[in-house]
Amino acid sequence: MKIQLNPCGPLQTNTIVITHKNTTIVVDPACSDLASLGILKGHLYVVLTHGHWDHILGVPLMPVETVYIHRGDVPMLSDPMLNGSLRGIFAPITVSVKPSPMCEGVHALGDISFTVYHTPGHTPGSISLYFPGEGIAIVGDFLFADGIGRTDLPGGSSAKMRMSIRKFMKAIPGDTLIYPGHGRPFHLKTHYLYKRGG
Ligand SMILES: [Zn+2]
Repeated sequence: MKIQLNPCGPLQTNTIVITHKNTTIVVDPACSDLASLGILKGHLYVVLTHGHWDHILGVPLMPVETVYIHRGDVPMLSDPMLNGSLRGIFAPITVSVKPSPMCEGVHALGDISFTVYHTPGHTPGSISLYFPGEGIAIVGDFLFADGIGRTDLPGGSSAKMRMSIRKFMKAIPGDTLIYPGHGRPFHLKTHYLYKRGG
């Protein structure tokens, strides 16, 4: 399995491309140049860690009919107020692609399987994708190398964030390499909350 990290868009959102055999999964497409990602071959899937505008920006460019997103964040796809694009300096963003609800549990998309953890707090439907065989997890704006996601945006909850952190730190091995929605990857055990036991 190959993991490729591509910071794209006005907020340098990490668009993560996972390829294995004949399958490609793009997580949080924020890029406007698909060709540079080299993803236009085989079976293609799009998974969104959450529905904020800077993580869904590139969805209309993706040649897919559905996107996978937790049902808690489905309303954000069509509501610029909820996805934050009304408050920015850019045009309001909506995505008309059909959402496929992705709930907590084990999923297989083509040749790639992974475990989804529901990690609300930053948004109601934030999810984290764990790939046990590779020792990596993709967490969107849930955790960053030096912090955690904001909880003061629409649908955010600091109480849920605390519960999600506790659950995630317990479930995921410390050696796991975490790919956040912005910034550099880091090992879970180096996060300041991991050291404090979540
Ligand atoms: Zn976000």
